[in-house]
Amino acid sequence: MKELTGVPVSKGIAMAKAFLFLEVDFPEIPRFHIEKERIDEEWARFLSAVDEVKEDVNSLRGVQKSVVAEGEDILNAHLLMLEDVEFHARIKEQLERNLQNIECTVWDVGREFYQKLITSPAPYLRERAVDISDITRQVLNALLNIKKRSLAGLTEDVIVVTRELSPSEAVAMNKRRVKALVMDAGSQTSHTAILAKAFEIPAVFGLSGVTKEVAQGDTLIVDGGAGVVVIKPTAKKIEKYHEIITKANEKKNEQNVSRDLPAETTDGSRVILNANIEFPEEVEQALRYGAEGIGLYRSEFLFLNAGYAGEEEQLRAYAYVLKAMEGKPVTIRTVDVGGDKIPSNFHTFEEKNPLLGLRAIRFSLAYPELFATQLRAILRASVFGVVKILFPMISGLAELEAALSMLEEAKKECRKKGQAFSNTIEVGSMIEIPSAAVIADILAEKSQFFSLGVNDLVQYTLAVDRNNEQVGYLSQPFHPAVIRLIKRTIDEAHSAGIKISMCGELAGDPRATAVLLGLGLDEFSMSASQIPLVKRSVRKANAEKCRALVKKILTCKTVKDVETMMKEEDGQS
Ligand code: PEP
Ligand code: MG
Repeated sequence: MKELTGVPVSKGIAMAKAFLFLEVDFPEIPRFHIEKERIDEEWARFLSAVDEVKEDVNSLRGVQKSVVAEGEDILNAHLLMLEDVEFHARIKEQLERNLQNIECTVWDVGREFYQKLITSPAPYLRERAVDISDITRQVLNALLNIKKRSLAGLTEDVIVVTRELSPSEAVAMNKRRVKALVMDAGSQTSHTAILAKAFEIPAVFGLSGVTKEVAQGDTLIVDGGAGVVVIKPTAKKIEKYHEIITKANEKKNEQNVSRDLPAETTDGSRVILNANIEFPEEVEQALRYGAEGIGLYRSEFLFLNAGYAGEEEQLRAYAYVLKAMEGKPVTIRTVDVGGDKIPSNFHTFEEKNPLLGLRAIRFSLAYPELFATQLRAILRASVFGVVKILFPMISGLAELEAALSMLEEAKKECRKKGQAFSNTIEVGSMIEIPSAAVIADILAEKSQFFSLGVNDLVQYTLAVDRNNEQVGYLSQPFHPAVIRLIKRTIDEAHSAGIKISMCGELAGDPRATAVLLGLGLDEFSMSASQIPLVKRSVRKANAEKCRALVKKILTCKTVKDVETMMKEEDGQS
């Protein structure tokens, strides 16, 4: 038995035989001189190889349509790369200048693009290097007449062990038969990782050398959440994992039972539990866990992965989510880029203090064209369900008014073009900067709802960078200052007669549920998998008692006092 630890990419436990999915032996790329007269012929061969690959990608899109939007997005990105003007121009230029056959020209240019991306400081650009090498390889396969390796025809349940699985191979694999994915390469943000999560296939990546450790047909256990792979487990280990799998199934059953129960306290206070999503395909999971709506759709992820997302692409993503939610409300937060989230087409952009810089609504107002495009896409999507618009990082009234006036402009534009949109869209402000919490009464006059972004509220209230592990210990949502700001915001929302949600991590922390109920929060939005846990806490709680607890907590002077009081209360219930 041997146990390896890698990067945990996609949760879940699987036990099955290993299927070693190794590279088809790739012949040495032929390299020879060609006469000038042959340039056109070689160029035509390139174009026809590209067409062949495009046909392949398109046929995969057909298969993919019913699965997840993310898979389709990746294939669309591949199609764009295949048609990329710069890629084509570079190949033509090199062909004409070096007078070498097209295979080695494609190889050289593919390597050059790959190198550029892989050495980029931005992680999402580095991840795209895999896509360009995927595409280059497919074009070379077509030119050299090489049959592709594929996981589409798997007929048995297996754990795929491979050096690297390209996104197109992941899209094409027989997902019913792939019980887990184990890779030498890869990270949590690679496209293949995103797909593994979307397909809910347990996956551990970054296990360099795993393809050498595992033999075809070895029994493997993969624990995707822990990032562990056990090779040839002992009988005892197998028994232990059987137990874990049985417990996980029981938990799933319990969740299924709780899914249709209301989030209601023992004394009849009803709250709403929503899900946060980053990618459209997460809606299926949200519904499975019983989300009553999407409380936060972090739309910036559309941009971070693929660079610029145009109006049509955005419309498609939003409409997909709205249709899947079948009338349940979907809160689309306009892009929160900046800080540590820079889209690839803005990678030149540098700031000394990005977390205090051109982020979120400030970014949108600074790039009105991009903002208007997003607002039009949301408006047009609104006919597919119930959409709410949420503006991130509002720091004062002027910003909110500017954003609202951009929304009015976008509506005018849609009307002019005859594009339908709902006229009952609610517009809300995120309260995640202390100034916004302090003037919550003023912002409430122009907002139809509030959403507390406690991740940032903590960061900005306590002056602690949420990504800096050195000061991570100071990131304390139970700090009395944070609790007071939350209370103030909730009270002001209610005085103005508007609903208030919370979408930061605190909303999904069952330890905080009683306090948030006592503070009067109306809606909680969290990672979908937290919903059953928070629901259990709500259903156990008594609203009256929660309010009494909050009264006591508001007298606490330190985080420790607050936490002790919460624990005492928990022990009593
Ligand atoms: C927050 O700040 O709490 C929030 C939900 O937004 P994000 O985590 O995307 O910054
Ligand atoms: Mg935030």
